[in-house]
Amino acid sequence: MELALWDGDTPKEACGVFGVYAPGHPVAHLAYAGLHALQHRGQESAGMAVSDGDTITVVKDMGLVTNVFDQRTLAPLVGHLAIGHTRYSTTGSSTWRNAQPIYRSVGDAGFALGHNGNLTNTTDLVARTGVLDGTVTSDSDLIAELCQDAIIRAGEGLRSDGRDLERALVEVLPLLDGAFSLVLMDDSHLIGVRDPNGFRPLCLGRLDNGWVLASETPALDIVGAHFVRELEPGEMVVIDATGVRSIHPFPPDRIKPKLCLFEFVYFARPDSQLYGQTVHTARQRMGELLAEQAPVDAEMVMPVPESGIPAAEGYARRSGIPYGHGLVKNRYIGRTFIAPSQEMRNLGVRMKLNPIRENIAGKRLVVVDDSIVRGTTTRAMIRMLREAGAAEIHLRVSSPPYRWPCYFGMDTGTRAELIAADLTVPEVCEYVGADTLAYLELDRLVSATGAAGAGFCTACLTGEYPIEIGPPPTKAALDPVAPVSG
Ligand code: SF4
Repeated sequence: MELALWDGDTPKEACGVFGVYAPGHPVAHLAYAGLHALQHRGQESAGMAVSDGDTITVVKDMGLVTNVFDQRTLAPLVGHLAIGHTRYSTTGSSTWRNAQPIYRSVGDAGFALGHNGNLTNTTDLVARTGVLDGTVTSDSDLIAELCQDAIIRAGEGLRSDGRDLERALVEVLPLLDGAFSLVLMDDSHLIGVRDPNGFRPLCLGRLDNGWVLASETPALDIVGAHFVRELEPGEMVVIDATGVRSIHPFPPDRIKPKLCLFEFVYFARPDSQLYGQTVHTARQRMGELLAEQAPVDAEMVMPVPESGIPAAEGYARRSGIPYGHGLVKNRYIGRTFIAPSQEMRNLGVRMKLNPIRENIAGKRLVVVDDSIVRGTTTRAMIRMLREAGAAEIHLRVSSPPYRWPCYFGMDTGTRAELIAADLTVPEVCEYVGADTLAYLELDRLVSATGAAGAGFCTACLTGEYPIEIGPPPTKAALDPVAPVSG
């Protein structure tokens, strides 16, 4: 059993994906830079696959991008085409076997795949498609297995007219339910796919003599690519020497845009563009609307760093209460696993946050955070502020109560672990120890995104899941080492 010390109270992203098709460019180095920009989406493992047109080489390992890759590992990765992946396992243990990209060979060729999201019909798919128990180790692995089977059944090798992987995907993709932003490659094509709901983001960028796919736009910026557009929900793009082709493999009645609202609230980088909006600006608007909805007489507005900063700025601007800092976050804390002794649990929040006593003592504070998931970190943080002398603590949260589990690639724990699942707002307030507590209302949150009509998943806030959720995968269906991943 493992324990992540300091982030037990925030939802965790499942994965980041990146792809580059760019003859003449150092694609492995570009993939490294892109993955570095997507590190926040997954810190357990990192990997890339690189093709020189003849051979696909895969390098992946546990750890951060900078742990897995260095000059020595990147130097031999020469080619014109690469995909990359950063992973956070959404359930179960984290093992090398589930690091991505996943590689499958077909004849003397092969393909590689990286997946962000979670399938919701894994059990059903395993049963329906006759995949043998224990053959696949995750939902992502199942997608690769089905593609491999489709290519083999078609009696083709990956080198016939070069479109075998594309044809396999057109056959397999409509079988999949749930969240899947995918990057795939064979030796000469880069392919990007976004599920029909577009739960997870995926965007297309242009390089001189090349193209880039990435979970978020900052990964385009860092490699010098120009943002072209977000992939549409249900769209597949195929990139090769002839350019970019767009394919729509899903029936039109399945296309219902439902981007994860929490990408705007928390998951995405603040410098990301989603639905044509800058995330940082949207988060500031959330704070402004929160100040209008839940004003309070106080002397300082302070964020819970780092995630509460833009909303706290917005709250301060709209309320006229001075903005200040009351907590310092340890910038160098990474994702570390330790034995879950009680003593180490108690250390958790103190390893992450430390109060600035002079800014806090005797003051009536508005403390702004983006979400409360389990409530344990919030409670410890408020106790810390009280010990530092805060006179009053008015907690303001820039999203509604998080009441339902996510099945689309976020790790938020079970419903029993969600503090707001069964408690009222006053009860949560009492539990965390604040003087007052207010959550931003859903309609204000959606309007703060600047993209209210674009379509959002709000299931963890409302319990209204945009698609049917199948039973969770059984251990018999998937390798017991790693039940499911995204
Ligand atoms: S359930 Fe919540 S976290 Fe999951 S995709 Fe929907 S909005 Fe995002």
